[in-house]
This record gives sequence, C-alpha cells and structure tokens, in this order.
Amino acid sequence: MINVTKTYLPSFDEYIAIVKRAWDKSWITNNGELVQELEEKLMQYLGVQHLLFTSNGTLPLQMALKVLGIKKEVITTPFSYVATTNSILWEGAVPVFVDIDPHTLCIDADKIEAAITADTEAIMATHVYGIPCDVEKIEAIAKKHGLKVIYDAAHSFGCTYNGKSLLSYGDISTCSFHATKVFHTGEGGCIIAKDEEVAKQLLLYRSFGHLGDDYYSIGINAKNSELHAAMGLCNLPAIGEIINARKLVYEEYNNRLNLEKIKQPVFSKNADYNYAYYPVIFKTEKILLEVRAVLLKNAVSTRRYFYPSLNQLPFLKNTMSCPVSEDISCRVLALPLFTDLSTEDVSRICAIVNELV
Ligand SMILES: *Cc1c(COP(=O)(O)O)cnc(C)c1O
Repeated sequence: MINVTKTYLPSFDEYIAIVKRAWDKSWITNNGELVQELEEKLMQYLGVQHLLFTSNGTLPLQMALKVLGIKKEVITTPFSYVATTNSILWEGAVPVFVDIDPHTLCIDADKIEAAITADTEAIMATHVYGIPCDVEKIEAIAKKHGLKVIYDAAHSFGCTYNGKSLLSYGDISTCSFHATKVFHTGEGGCIIAKDEEVAKQLLLYRSFGHLGDDYYSIGINAKNSELHAAMGLCNLPAIGEIINARKLVYEEYNNRLNLEKIKQPVFSKNADYNYAYYPVIFKTEKILLEVRAVLLKNAVSTRRYFYPSLNQLPFLKNTMSCPVSEDISCRVLALPLFTDLSTEDVSRICAIVNELV
C-alpha cells in the first residue's frame, strides 16, 4: 500500500545517541536540555525571536486566542484542517468564515473587510499547503481595524516569503510537528510570538501557569518531552535534504500529470515552497471519486485534503456560505508525496489519473 504520506525517520542509532543524553540525566520532560536546544536551533533556522516547543500544533492555536484575549468574532478560512475552526470554538469565540481566493486557496484578503463587525477581534488564517496568505494586505487591514493576526502555519515549515520564514508573520504563528508534516518530532508543534510579553505569558500557559512555587495565571499542559525533542534534533539538520527529496517527487508529478485537465493551486512568486503536499483539483467531484476509488484498488491511498469546507461542519450554529471553498473542497485531492516515493510509483499513479481525467 502506498500511503498518502510516509513519516521521514532519522537513523535509529542517531536518535538513540541523542536520547541517551536525557537517559543519562534521568530527565525526560519539563523543559529539559534537549527541548531547550531544539528551541534554540529552531529559532536560528526560522530567524524568529520567541518560539516555544509544544506538545502538538493544536494547543498553540488555542493558546494564541487565549493570550491575545480573543473572545468574540474571529475571521477565519473555511479551507484548512478542522483544528483551525475548532480552536476558535474551543475558546468560546465565534468563527466568521471569509471565502478563499480561487488561485492560492488561502483566505481572500479582499473579502475580509466586508466581514468585520464591532465584535471582530482577530483574523486566524492558514497558509494552506504552505502557500502564503496575502500577509501584507491582512496586516494592513488588521492595523486599520485594530485586529490581531494569528497564522495557522502548520503546513509552512521550511517555506519562506520575501526571504523570511513564513512562520515569522502575524502577531502569532503556530506550527505542527506531527509525524505527517514536513518537519516532525513524532507529536509536537510550536508557537511563535512577535511580542516578548506575549511570549512570556505563553511560557506560563504552556506549563500550568506557574513557575516553581509561584502561581501567576491560568495555564494548560502544552509541554513536550525530551524524547520528542530528540527526534526534532535528529530531523532538523536533514530538513534541506527532506525538502529537496520532496521537490524531486513534486516535479516528477508535474512532468507526468496531464495538467491540461487538472488544476493546481497557484503559488506566490516571492515564496519558497516546502513541497508538503501534492494537491490536484479535478473538473468535477465525480472524477475525483473515480480517481480515488481506482487508485485505492491499485493500493494507492489519497486524501480529501481539505473536505468538507469548514463553514459546512455539521456542528456549527450558524451557516455561512463560501461558494469558492465549497466548490474546491469537493474537487481537491492530495496525492501521495513523501521523500522516498519512487519514480516508478509516481509514474504508475500519474498513468491512472491521466486515464480517468
Ligand atoms: C496538522 C494541522 C494542525 C494540527 O496539528 P497537530 O500537531 O496534529 O495538533 C492544525 N492546523 C493545520 C492546518 C494542520 O494541517
């Protein structure tokens, strides 16, 4: 079976050599040496000042809303993973969906202002598939209306925009280091804040709101362990190699797929991509379902990433229409993409897809 994704793993011996440092100290969690070293290296790699390693990429979304005091309306994208919307609901705020740009599939910045009300407090957008949102326009709107900007940058590790890491934009950016992501720590993630005071509060939130015997605020447990940090320390030096290997697979698809019949999202010119996904947009949902079924018969799994459009989640109280997102989410499919996907397999997948479109 060819899965839609396959976790990159470092050499076992290399992992054990790093984990042994935690073993020798009998210290495997609570802001240990490996967690601190990983944070230092991540800040260096990403060129950011305040970064915290967390247990996943979902709690940081909730912590971001909490630390910025967001309780009312949050303008957000309908085309993302469900964690984006759920974090808003979990914090008791109200998601207000603004439709996506049909080319980048990110929130359509030109439609944001029309959705702003007296209750709007923040914009939470996703750089979907690592494609940058219109960060300039979003920043200008936020400034004009006094809104906070949070980016769910779960797909954006290794992506740059205008020469800077895509994770350096917004008041807060979050990332996921889940095993299925381009850079991973098994389970894990991070939260990046522009403001030092915000970062200090997030450090408290991550660890129950207290430092030693001093209790400062509410908090949660969003820490991560030395075992996970060790995985990150192994994988980080390989990130260039990982992205390059993914790029070759990506280009192989581009060369072999009949791109006259299949659409793809459009990337910004000033961006470097991490080749996290290979999304294709078919003419109709019917074709998508056929392609998916035939690939599965041939032991190839794909993923409807993202479906449904999040404004159509069944548990939402109010219905909002986002025609572009609803249409695309019915027609978009992620094809397998991982570092050691062979040329033969890509060729086989493309032959099946081309036959059906
Ligand atoms: C993966 C993902 C998350 C959640 O990250 P976890 O580490 O699995 O909690 C959030 N948002 C988006 C867009 C994602 O793809």
